[in-house]
Amino acid sequence: MDNLLIITNEGKQTSLDEKTVSAFKSTLNGNLILPGDEPYNQERLVWNGMIDKRPAMIVNCADERDVIKSVNFARSHNLVMAVRGGGHNVAGLGTCEGGLVINLSGMNEVTVDPEQRFVSVSGGATWADVDRETQAFGLVTPGGVVSDTGVGGLTLGGGYGHLRNKYGLSCDNLLAAEVVTADGNKIRASESTNPELLWGLRGGGGNFGVVTRFEFRLFPLGPEVYMCLVFHPADQTEKAVRFFRQYTQDAPDEVSALLFSGIIPEGAEGFPADLFNQPFLAFMAVYAGDPEKGELILEPLRKFDEPLLDFSGTRSYVNVQSILDEDYPSHKMRYYWKSLNLQDLPDKAAAVFAEHASRQPSDYSTSDLWHVGRGVKRYGSEHGAFNGRQADYLLNPEANWLNEADDRANIAWVRSFLDAMKPFSAGGLYLNFAGFQEEGEAMMKSAYSNHYKRLAAIKHQYDPHNLFRLNQNIKPTDSRKS
Ligand code: FAD
Repeated sequence: MDNLLIITNEGKQTSLDEKTVSAFKSTLNGNLILPGDEPYNQERLVWNGMIDKRPAMIVNCADERDVIKSVNFARSHNLVMAVRGGGHNVAGLGTCEGGLVINLSGMNEVTVDPEQRFVSVSGGATWADVDRETQAFGLVTPGGVVSDTGVGGLTLGGGYGHLRNKYGLSCDNLLAAEVVTADGNKIRASESTNPELLWGLRGGGGNFGVVTRFEFRLFPLGPEVYMCLVFHPADQTEKAVRFFRQYTQDAPDEVSALLFSGIIPEGAEGFPADLFNQPFLAFMAVYAGDPEKGELILEPLRKFDEPLLDFSGTRSYVNVQSILDEDYPSHKMRYYWKSLNLQDLPDKAAAVFAEHASRQPSDYSTSDLWHVGRGVKRYGSEHGAFNGRQADYLLNPEANWLNEADDRANIAWVRSFLDAMKPFSAGGLYLNFAGFQEEGEAMMKSAYSNHYKRLAAIKHQYDPHNLFRLNQNIKPTDSRKS
């Protein structure tokens, strides 16, 4: 092996000699993958096909000792470092150019304590891992709506899912965490131990260290729930947004509903050929309670118009959680997702939404409106760092496309959509749908608002030199000096 070219935290290229790399490799319980190794070209990929980075080293961690060794190695060689949970970050934060990737995906153990109603989840698990284990006991904790997304990034950034209006976000139900910090120590964060760190982990991103274990509160639900998934003609979009506003305002907390519009792509599974290429307007909603009651309460969404197609019905919770998986293939497609917190949906907003939604350049894209209800708003500033509870709706135009030649048009569509909706903004955006974080610190400050200063002080306490910088990054600030 030749010397290994690496990139430092200051962006300088330098190298590590073979002896140093081999010595590090021999200490690991998991694998070290280097450029030229057979699995390298597969292992370096993340979910978003736009991201094409070549890390110098990928550590497939077997356990928390590997995490500690990797953090210590990266720090002592001033190596740029990325932490990968599920690899689904849209901005590609789970990898880096010329640095060390701490890949947690092999650490996916999930243990349920049905009596105490909590679940312990290793740092690289996906929501599929969690739902499978918790549902064996008829229990749930709120995750996202696509099951191969990582628990790590989704929780640390917030976590909107099908149960949010009843049970809150994923980060709201984080009871405790074990964290490997920048100095290579493992610490616990809970309400009684390092509570300020727990506050930061509830929405403050991957800034404070590598979470090797999450503990979440559990609730009884399932094995079956009622899900509405109905496709209506797109010419009703403006009217549908107004209807959605009225419906969601009156709906009980058990209902977490989402409106999305798009085009049924050629060959879409489960759709008849005569619907291919047709624009649609869809409602997706889950009732977190008795399925029979759910069917009645969600019926107005299905009856809004004569549906093109109605997939609604009672399903297993595990099926509900994975029903969208196939729509978001890894590596193959290019993605740019960005969001805006909305105050409300006045009629004017419905018109602007309908106009911009109809202009999507790719058949694979959608324009999403998430209702943010009482389950999310119930938690105050003291509970955690997540900010966005002031929103009544979250707008997320998702550009999903196939060819590099179409990058510009798709990214421009998302940006102009968000610009047009700014008059209805409630301030900030959801950081897990933050484009490529191109606005840098200004975006972070706007997203966290008056939580930013507190987060910067926690960052200073646990990572004063910003070792964990490839994330929704908060600059460490000594609170005594600010
Ligand atoms: P990764 O790319 O692995 O990591 C992203 C960031 O999280 C990195 O900065 C990393 O430092 C940090 N991180 C990850 N794990 C750890 C850890 N254990 N310790 C410390 N830091 C860690 N969001 C929602 O809220 N609701 C949804 O329903 C939803 N659906 C999605 C569906 C798809 C198909 C995709 C691609 C994304 C979706 N998202 C959703 C957004 C999602 O929350 C973010 O993309 C999130 O970053 C994914 O987490 P990950 O662990 O897979 O990402």
